[in-house]
Amino acid sequence: MHQFDALGLEENLMKAITEMGYTQPTPIQEKSIPILLSGTKDFIGLAQTGTGKTAAFGLPLLQLINTADKFPQALIVCPTRELCLQIVTEIEKFKKHKRGMEVVAVYGGASIGLQIRTIKRGIQIVVATPGRLIDLIERKAINLHEIRYVVLDEADEMLNMGFQDDIEFILQNTPKKESTWLFSATMPPEIRKVSKKYMNEPAEVTVGQVNTANVNIDHQYFIVASHHRYEALKRLIDFNPGIYGIIFTRTKADAQEIAEKLTREGYDIDALHGDLSQQQRDAVMGQFRDKTLQLLIATDVAARGIDVKDITHVINYELPDDTEVYTHRSGRTGRAGKTGVCMSIVHSREIGKLRQIERIIKVPMHKLEIPSGKDVCRKQFFAFMDKIIHTQINDESYEAYVPILIEKFADMSKEDILKRVAAMEFDRFLKYYETAEDLNVRERSRTFDKFSRDGRSERGRDQGRERSAYRDTQGRSFKGGDQFTRLFVNLGTKDGFYKASFLQFVLDMSDMKKESLGRIDMRELNSWVEVEKKSASRMIASINGKKFKGRNIRMNEADSR
Ligand code: ADP
Ligand code: MG
Repeated sequence: MHQFDALGLEENLMKAITEMGYTQPTPIQEKSIPILLSGTKDFIGLAQTGTGKTAAFGLPLLQLINTADKFPQALIVCPTRELCLQIVTEIEKFKKHKRGMEVVAVYGGASIGLQIRTIKRGIQIVVATPGRLIDLIERKAINLHEIRYVVLDEADEMLNMGFQDDIEFILQNTPKKESTWLFSATMPPEIRKVSKKYMNEPAEVTVGQVNTANVNIDHQYFIVASHHRYEALKRLIDFNPGIYGIIFTRTKADAQEIAEKLTREGYDIDALHGDLSQQQRDAVMGQFRDKTLQLLIATDVAARGIDVKDITHVINYELPDDTEVYTHRSGRTGRAGKTGVCMSIVHSREIGKLRQIERIIKVPMHKLEIPSGKDVCRKQFFAFMDKIIHTQINDESYEAYVPILIEKFADMSKEDILKRVAAMEFDRFLKYYETAEDLNVRERSRTFDKFSRDGRSERGRDQGRERSAYRDTQGRSFKGGDQFTRLFVNLGTKDGFYKASFLQFVLDMSDMKKESLGRIDMRELNSWVEVEKKSASRMIASINGKKFKGRNIRMNEADSR
């Protein structure tokens, strides 16, 4: 494998990344950096999340930009504020030994005045989310006329989130750009379109299977009945004492509720979702990053692009509606060569969906059993013993107490002392799990196992798929009809929505469960959503008149007009 010094990076950058502990370039870095350093080329880099794309464009930019010129020369556009800050943090580290290079982060929810003042001070690199950047362009507070390099990071996410028009606007407002570099984990047709329109014979580098998940991730699933989801989640957490993980839910209501319940039961967890203020978000992320919080529970929208090191587990409390989203979720673990586990708690009805996901990630998912109460206790016990054995002791601070301790426990055997220590830690725990029930769905899992074991696995799978598809259609035809009201919305595919992301958007805005929705029909400019009669007015109240990308959303009963 190549070393960094073969890539043509200047000394100050080499020094910085060595200090950061980078020893070898990742494949996308190895392939991109020489091309990007070589001159003025448009470029498309496709690689999964967690493969080091930030350095792949960040290092060449730092080398190519002229520090003597104190105006913006490079623009990095990314989908979220979190990501914006992450990129700036990384670039700050890369440029540690480079003089006269300044970076500004431009994102919504923070003081625009402060950002404008930083820009005025003379910066070369702008890292921005589309919304705030456009705000600055319209206020004429930023000069993009001398921008030579435009980087679109997480381009697929930006299009998913409906930023297509914004990105085009930004590209049109950078007249002197010599190079456009686009980085993405997937290559949907919309990106092809943007690249055709705005890029000139881009060099394209693909690393690994685009759309596949990372091979360092073990994908596991657990089949439980719906009413056991919460209990199953708790058991999976308890069975993994050293867990440092993110749990995904579909709705913010679920995220909030589960976080509250688990906190009451003594877990170090908090929720990240769209309802939090920026300060609250920062506080939660800060605690999670410095590991005061062991667990974070989040909705997909809120967790976009988050790069936290050393995540051991991703847990899908429910599978995402959109199977593509699975890759984004699981990509939070197994980063930078580390291994990780992605666990999904699923209902037996969702087996068809698991097969779809397997086709996307191109690796098998392993069916495991929810551990029994006994298993959990045993695991916790071992972890506890390890903790005792590996506890660091600062000799001096305890020296004075040792004689007192010895005297105090003189009549107690080692066995008795250990029992007491264990009891202190475990009493409540043992009682809780003593009578814990088996959460695995026995009947169904056996049938399913037989399919995959008897050498007809492909056929078995297909049958599984057919069956679940069958059930799906049954469910639909049972729905429909009288119990639903059809609502009109003035949002459509042109706003960057797919059916699944639109469904998620509607659910998030209205805080409803998926079960209350029927069919969704999407057109370019408008959509129609079926919602349970009794919930229709609530949905209209929570969506009609709200803003989407600065535009008023209109929602009303489809037939009433
Ligand atoms: P992506 O943008 O592809 O999702 P990131 O750029 O966020 O990935 O990188 C993921 C993590 O890997 C970051 O924490 C980053 O510091 C680390 N990383 C990147 N390149 C290397 C490398 N060559 N050696 C070690 N760690 C790296
Ligand atoms: Mg990235």
